[in-house]
Amino acid sequence: MSEYFNVADIFGENVFSDKVMQERLPKKIYKALHKTIDEGKELDPMVAEVVAEAMKQWAIEKGATHYTHWFQPLTGVTAEKHDSFITAPRADGTILMEFSGKELIKGEPDASSFPSGGLRATFEARGYTAWDCTSPAFVREDAAGAILCIPTAFCSYTGESLDLKTPLLRSMQAINTQALRLLKLFGNTTSKKVTPSVGPEQEYFLVDAEMFEERKDLIYTGRTLFGAMPPKGQELDDHYFGTIRQRVAAFMKQVNEELWKLGVTAKTQHNEVAPAQHELAPIYAEANVAVDHNQIVMQTLKRVACQHGLKCLLHEKPFAGVNGSGKHNNWSITTDDGINLLDPGKTPHENVQFLLVLACILKAVDTHADLLRESAADPGNDHRLGANEAPPAIISIFLGEQLEDVVAQLISTGTATSSKTGGVLQTGVRTLPDFAKDATDRNRTSPFAFTGNKFEFRMVGSRDSIASPNIVLNAIVAEAFCEACDELEGAENFEEAVHDLIKKYLTEHQRIVFNGNGYSDEWVAEAERRGLPNIHSMVDAIPTLVTEKAIKLFGKFGIFTKAELESRVEIKYENYAKAINIEARTMIDMASKQIIPAVIKYTKDLADTIIAVKQAGVDAPVQTELLAESSDLLSDTKVALAKLIEVTDTAAAMGEGREQAVYYHDVVMAAMSELRAPVDKLEMIVDKAVWPMPSYGDLLFEV
Ligand code: ADP
Ligand code: MG
Repeated sequence: MSEYFNVADIFGENVFSDKVMQERLPKKIYKALHKTIDEGKELDPMVAEVVAEAMKQWAIEKGATHYTHWFQPLTGVTAEKHDSFITAPRADGTILMEFSGKELIKGEPDASSFPSGGLRATFEARGYTAWDCTSPAFVREDAAGAILCIPTAFCSYTGESLDLKTPLLRSMQAINTQALRLLKLFGNTTSKKVTPSVGPEQEYFLVDAEMFEERKDLIYTGRTLFGAMPPKGQELDDHYFGTIRQRVAAFMKQVNEELWKLGVTAKTQHNEVAPAQHELAPIYAEANVAVDHNQIVMQTLKRVACQHGLKCLLHEKPFAGVNGSGKHNNWSITTDDGINLLDPGKTPHENVQFLLVLACILKAVDTHADLLRESAADPGNDHRLGANEAPPAIISIFLGEQLEDVVAQLISTGTATSSKTGGVLQTGVRTLPDFAKDATDRNRTSPFAFTGNKFEFRMVGSRDSIASPNIVLNAIVAEAFCEACDELEGAENFEEAVHDLIKKYLTEHQRIVFNGNGYSDEWVAEAERRGLPNIHSMVDAIPTLVTEKAIKLFGKFGIFTKAELESRVEIKYENYAKAINIEARTMIDMASKQIIPAVIKYTKDLADTIIAVKQAGVDAPVQTELLAESSDLLSDTKVALAKLIEVTDTAAAMGEGREQAVYYHDVVMAAMSELRAPVDKLEMIVDKAVWPMPSYGDLLFEV
């Protein structure tokens, strides 16, 4: 029997939540802080002082000894530097625990150690972290003890953003302003704030920690660089939603409990399509909180896995030939008084405000499909998008039957007079209840799907931060709202003008709507005919950040300056080159020190056996054939290895920038594949006892 356990008892217990602030802060201070959180009013240093004191007291009661400004530099992972609360000893040798308002709102990490893309030379190393009071502080417990984590933004001395949070917050301001304008057109004067809500579904793999330790590729790169397919893959579809194994279940239980304590609403968990693959989804939250929480989720998955003798792989493509992992970024826009702008209601054809919002989103996504694609680009995701598995690298929107029909009516006649309904689901079994179906089926092949009252952007990589896609979504939709408002605010006959505008947008941008199978080859051809961009790789996606159109968009809303965009482009090329360089070097290391020696040993044993058998007066045709085969593959391996060493050295010697990144993509990656091919064949021949690392079968089926 389980012990009594109520999630409500632990939920948020390690969060400096609104409830805690209400209890611990003087009323006036609490109100002043809320003015900043809710309305973006500047924070009074006096208020910060009092909040810091209360936060420290609360954290110490939770066992915290240190605090950290927790931030998200452009390395792709979170960064933190811990400071203890202690002050210098007093005359009597005792110490105090101190934490000032200044320490709460401002930190100063050495910015030169983080990517800045030339925004700041090392001799101008100043960078600041600034408290983001819209995302709550929390106490994290791990082997280092308990630490007060303060979510912060990270900027250079001159105010350029060096992180993902600053532009995210800027993009949220942009969509807030423009959405409020749009609501006003429809007579809404009560909503004060509009925020994007985000619910990211996180996919991941779990493998046995001891086996992980035996694979240098997993250790250094997070994915396997060699590996023959096991006899069984995912063809039986028996893992998806299958019964969760006990070891994994115990892991999930602990993950949930830790996340709940941190105020992360872990809600759904299940096995995913691939063996050893799983998913976790929280309940959606405000975009910046969702971004922070997703980072906490990823960290927690990794940390807890270790405690269960497991390793959590967040890489987008840990195993070739087996489905990779992504993140589904569910996105909607909601007012402070609870109106979801993406909720069509029961009769969408009558909901003019919704239709305008929808038309704007179609326009935004069509106009900036390239940017949205870029926002999901990282080296790992290149193995998914448009490569060996879906979704494709082409952005399109799935609307579903009901909305597609409404849109078609609007385009052809200018008015829509009906909305299709889902009807009743009849199972044909009397004891099963009949229930109303959704008006729309799902389409799991679409990269950007309307799912009832939100859009689901399904391209994001599993390891990547969800900040970038949400920055782009907020920005492009803010722009479309802004342009619509510019047209409509002066209109003499609003009703006529809004109908005309909706029709215009829908007509001009209908090419972005695609309800069919996004995984098919026909779609690739059709998309090309429609003129939709098909951007195959990260290196090809990066330049989209600095097109005239992108600079104008981000500049208009103060989300990125031109200099910031240019710096990000540089950083991305650099990050890409580094990632592939590490992969190539890891392959070189494994092939030279592990695989070739193992095959040499195998061939020597075979040769010895052949001699012994022949001495006994018997022919050894099988052994001889195996020896010839493995020797041939061994020499292929050696040739491919030499080639990979050569091109990797060439790449590394090139100056940083686009040319180098392209070389890594075109030449080094190709040489990596050439080395992998004979090695994977050898793995199928060589005695398992000699093979120097666990196989795909071991990793995928022995959790
Ligand atoms: P699935 O796509 O697997 O059927 P759900 O519909 O349960 O999943 O939702 C997946 C994610 O979408 C969850 O994180 C959920 O909280 C989030 N979500 C649900 N409604 C919204 C919304 N209005 N805005 C943003 N995210 C949402
Ligand atoms: Mg989903």
